[in-house]
Amino acid sequence: MLRHNEFILGVHLCMKSIRKVAILGAGTMGARIAAHFANAAVPSYLFDIVPPDADGAARNKIAAAGLDAARKAKPAAFMDSSLARLVTVGNFEDDLKKLADVDWIIEAVVENVEIKRALLKKVEAIRKPGTIITTNTSGLPVGKIAEGFSDDFRRAWFGTHFFNPPRYMRLLEIIPTPESDQTAVRLIEDFCDKRLGKGVVGAKDTPNFIGNRIGTFSVLNVIRLMQEMDLSIEEVDALTGQAVGWPRSATFRTIDMVGLDILGHVVGNMLQNVHDERSDLKIPDFVRQMLDRKWLGDKTKGGFYKKGAAQAASSGDAKEERLALDWKALEYHPRQKPKFPALDMAKNVEQTGARVRMLLGMDGSGPKKGDKPGEFLWAALSDVWTYSANRIPEIADSVVEIDRAMRLGFNWELGPFELWDAAGVEATVERMKKGGRPVAANVEKLLGSGKKSWYTDDTTAPSGRAYFDFRASDYKAVEVPAGVWSVEVVKKSKGVVKKNSGASLVDLGDGVGCIEFHSKMNSLGTDIISLISQTLKPGGPGDGFDAFVMTNDATNFSVGANLMLLLMSIQEEEWDDIDLVIRQFQNMTQAIKFSPKPVVVAPFGLCLGGGTEIALHAPALQPHAELYIGLVEIGVGLLPGGGGCKEMLLRAVDSAESIRPGGRGESVEIVEAVKKAFETIAMAKVATSALEARGFGFLRDTDHITMNRDRILSDAKARALEMVRSGYEAPQPRTDIPAPGENILAALKMGVHLMRQGDYITEYEVKLGGKIAEVLCGGNVSPGTPVSEQYILDLEREGFKSLCGEKKTQERIQYTLKTGKTLRN
Ligand code: NAD
Repeated sequence: MLRHNEFILGVHLCMKSIRKVAILGAGTMGARIAAHFANAAVPSYLFDIVPPDADGAARNKIAAAGLDAARKAKPAAFMDSSLARLVTVGNFEDDLKKLADVDWIIEAVVENVEIKRALLKKVEAIRKPGTIITTNTSGLPVGKIAEGFSDDFRRAWFGTHFFNPPRYMRLLEIIPTPESDQTAVRLIEDFCDKRLGKGVVGAKDTPNFIGNRIGTFSVLNVIRLMQEMDLSIEEVDALTGQAVGWPRSATFRTIDMVGLDILGHVVGNMLQNVHDERSDLKIPDFVRQMLDRKWLGDKTKGGFYKKGAAQAASSGDAKEERLALDWKALEYHPRQKPKFPALDMAKNVEQTGARVRMLLGMDGSGPKKGDKPGEFLWAALSDVWTYSANRIPEIADSVVEIDRAMRLGFNWELGPFELWDAAGVEATVERMKKGGRPVAANVEKLLGSGKKSWYTDDTTAPSGRAYFDFRASDYKAVEVPAGVWSVEVVKKSKGVVKKNSGASLVDLGDGVGCIEFHSKMNSLGTDIISLISQTLKPGGPGDGFDAFVMTNDATNFSVGANLMLLLMSIQEEEWDDIDLVIRQFQNMTQAIKFSPKPVVVAPFGLCLGGGTEIALHAPALQPHAELYIGLVEIGVGLLPGGGGCKEMLLRAVDSAESIRPGGRGESVEIVEAVKKAFETIAMAKVATSALEARGFGFLRDTDHITMNRDRILSDAKARALEMVRSGYEAPQPRTDIPAPGENILAALKMGVHLMRQGDYITEYEVKLGGKIAEVLCGGNVSPGTPVSEQYILDLEREGFKSLCGEKKTQERIQYTLKTGKTLRN
């Protein structure tokens, strides 16, 4: 049955969608939240205070400065710079009446209850009844902020805690009060999940909610341990970063990026409002002194680290390097690489759980005496586990919310309970007891019930797993919203249809097969090529399917071709093998394009080189909004040889044709379009979002973008089914492509020449540019000469092979393999 307040507000809400929002406060968070709404195509008002004595346009100065900061933010807050047009700035004195036309108001002013209440009082007088209003507070009591406000206001009021930076941090904590209307909460949950791409976690109205409560404890505890065990800033960062599946920025680089002042606020709030068994933790003296000296991190160009001049050891020349703080002397010194042999060894262990077991000595080797890294990590991790377990049901009802909050809001690869499972709950608890450490009652409950881990597989659940529920004293399926899905879950319940070392074919049900890559960094080798080709071949393992999706669960869709294999073949001068592999790669991309069954490619993260060529051949894409896509082959001295040049040429020709039908040869449109395609390839342009990728011609207007990473698999499957239902017909290979020809080729080469004269490119890049231009123009033919797709593929293959034989190309490949960077030789 609906609760009373649910009913009243629910009446307007059930028909409501979020079409326009207002963000109050244009600081670090407010302006970037507005930018992220723009990324989701939702227009917003962004208001802030009026500066003293300001007139006219200057009255919006603070909001305008906030928007400007968001425009220039790094990493970019807007997915495409043109989106800033969707944000309208204003101020709290002249513009509040505009709140009448928004569906959702988000308060994001300074973290001060009185200031927030004073502003909200003004809003209350203007706001249309029913308009949802939420706060972005990092941890102030949400209910208390709205105490004494009207019933309608309090029903529409709850917390929506975005993390910084809002475009990239996936966590959104939603904090309802007992009075919040459930329909409104659900509407925002759904909107934030699907439109903003957030991982929504329901939190209780307790100080600092979930992420900041656990995160702050962990940081303060790590600093305490550093002091007690006499470790350095650099040593702690080496131990609390990727070694344990936490972000590379570890403890102190992260605080520098976030700002020591922000940490100070959150800790201050915690010390004032939280009274738990770890209230002994305080801001240490040296951090307090840093706050007094305004050593706040990146924003003041110095925190635990700073950039500074140091003498280069060999030459004695001054050069810039990163300095680290000696926390005892409060002085900076050149950053020192910690000497922890145990850590160096553990780095070779790829799986985080196994690595942590090794570091803790939980892999059977046992804790070693005098092993500082092991002792430190044991104390830090077992304390986080116990503290987290003690917070249930105080801050969350189950381990699931805490794990998700730490994964999505703090970029921990595994949440505390997941990491605890990986280390082994039973064995670690035994060790805690032996060492006289406190043991959480909740973990005793888990072990007392006969269960040995917080999670277990559950192939019947859409999430694929179950968690230990304290009330039932048994496992319960982890719930996920409909449409949140992963290849891993499918494989757990259905297994795989076919598999090799690089890729698998998985049955998604309803006649849709999924081709999943799972090689290292998803680089494309012969194993992936062969699985795709076999699957799409009549009589192959894909025969039983009507359509295909190509995606995977990794961080990156694909970093491109396997350069190591290519380099080995080059070094052994196996030119026939290279020729064969390029042919196989081309055949694979053509199979994707001409398959009678639709292939929907759903890329995300890095999709480079060969990965882009796969995407370019798909009849439909369903990319994640966070997509870094580009034909970067020139960086390693090559050109796109898997059909990438051909597809870019087709797009150029078709776009020119759409502007001026029948304009063969050298119309302005074709010149411009080919030039654009050439620059995209020759400058290795990488779009930094799916929206930008559309502008670069990698996406078509008909391709839909998915905002939530967890939804691309189901969205791609839905798209594939839609194509089947509407009677998909594959395109026919084209034989009538009007080649841009010799004149455009001469113009492109002239451009390259000028770049060389201006010293923008190297001599070798002139050669590379020339090769790309030749392929794109269809060679030195008369303009408009009809050529076939196969003809362009042949040009690509010849160009690619000839570049493989060049010393400078080989140097480029070697350098990239070694450093991950590009060599401009
Ligand atoms: P900020 O200091 O960058 O911006 C706060 C804004 O409030 C400023 O634009 C300022 O002009 C405005 N303001 C100042 N005094 C005011 C007054 N008297 N009345 C109305 N407005 C006033 O702060 P921020 O980091 O953007 O934080 C905003 C909110 O978001 C806070 O509640 C904070 O706790 C929360 N938050 C911050 C972060 C973060 O990492 N920065 C993360 C999550 C949540």
